[in-house]
Amino acid sequence: MSTPTGADTKTRTLLDFRNVEMTFPGGTVALRGVDLTVDRGEFVTVVGPSGCGKSTLLRIASGLETASDGEAIMSTDRIGYVFQDATLLPWRTVQDNVELLAELNWQTTAARRAKAAETIELVGLTGFEKHLPRQLSGGMRMRTSLARSLTLEPELFLFDEPFGALDEITRENLNDELIRLFTTTRFAGLFITHSVSEAVYLSTKVVVMSGRPGRIVEQFDVPFDMPRDPEIRYTGEFAQLVGEVSHALREGHH
Ligand code: ADP
Repeated sequence: MSTPTGADTKTRTLLDFRNVEMTFPGGTVALRGVDLTVDRGEFVTVVGPSGCGKSTLLRIASGLETASDGEAIMSTDRIGYVFQDATLLPWRTVQDNVELLAELNWQTTAARRAKAAETIELVGLTGFEKHLPRQLSGGMRMRTSLARSLTLEPELFLFDEPFGALDEITRENLNDELIRLFTTTRFAGLFITHSVSEAVYLSTKVVVMSGRPGRIVEQFDVPFDMPRDPEIRYTGEFAQLVGEVSHALREGHH
């Protein structure tokens, strides 16, 4: 891994993990020697078996957890976090859920209304502002959750398997939405998934982790243009990369 030197690298790299270790009280070693960077303009996806420390990695990146050794350097405090569950408040409408983070950040009513209207439109939920979460599909709840995070204009977006519970068609639609948001709003992404094809489709870089304790076994640059043409999923080049990532994943499991 290259060591950041001048000021240019400093502003380019938003997340820099150097030899990060995580041992929980009780002795579980979740991460060992993790070196990982996310630069502006990158969408990095981490794949790895269950329990290998992927969520722990995101929690350290977000500041919810502190690494027990090594360095985890974040060069921005504008971080968005989207969880597997949409985590909406059931008694609040779409509009009021989307305004929540802006509200907690003391933005004025007018400012957060305007911002929420903008991000609701960005995720394609205009017309559903007055709906309650229970009146929405799973995909729409996830869009609401995305809109809520987008109100804070994150520079780095952390995603903890956000589409894992959705059916395949909804997941593919949301993957395309996410790519559209990535290419228009210019956040950098760190995304976790179990799905190798989702990882290759979404990312500029795929990182493969081993079983616990999680180490990075291999990183792959994804050569396809952004925004992605949905048809690339059916090309030989795409299938080959999915095959290589799957192979690394199997090797890292032993
Ligand atoms: P993944 O997201 O890859 O499924 P996690 O990061 O959730 O994995 O967990 C990695 C390992 O660390 C697991 O064995 C898990 O049980 C353990 N772990 C996670 N959080 C804690 C905690 N707060 N205390 C103790 N062990 C934990």
